Amino acid sequence: MFPDLSPAAVPDVLRCLLEYPELRQVLQTLHQQNCQPCLELRVRLKYCETHLPASLLSYFHNLTKHPPAGCRTPLAIVTPDGRCLGCRGSIPTAWLPRIRLQTALYVCENCGAILLPVNPAIMEVCDAK
Ligand SMILES: [Zn+2]
Repeated sequence: MFPDLSPAAVPDVLRCLLEYPELRQVLQTLHQQNCQPCLELRVRLKYCETHLPASLLSYFHNLTKHPPAGCRTPLAIVTPDGRCLGCRGSIPTAWLPRIRLQTALYVCENCGAILLPVNPAIMEVCDAK
């Protein structure tokens, strides 16, 4: 769990976490093609970078660059029956209500992936891709 995160900030942090890797990828592609990113893209990336706690951002980067054994994805959805979709390991039942209500952010004890709830807000972001 990331203790430096207030429960009220979790939903926004989750949205930023989902958006951030994609924005970075788009920016990198534009850079390779010598194109200038539009203002909207830069503003959105800046927003994500400032709203993601530094500890979480560095954890995410580390996970992407050096994934621990068994970690297939830095962000893993928790299934309705309480399993991490990254490694299929079970999540402590005490965590589940807080993950679903988006009041806390946890890391899978088994594979180290950052755990995401399945909920309409998250799905909306996924569908927009
Ligand atoms: Zn896992």
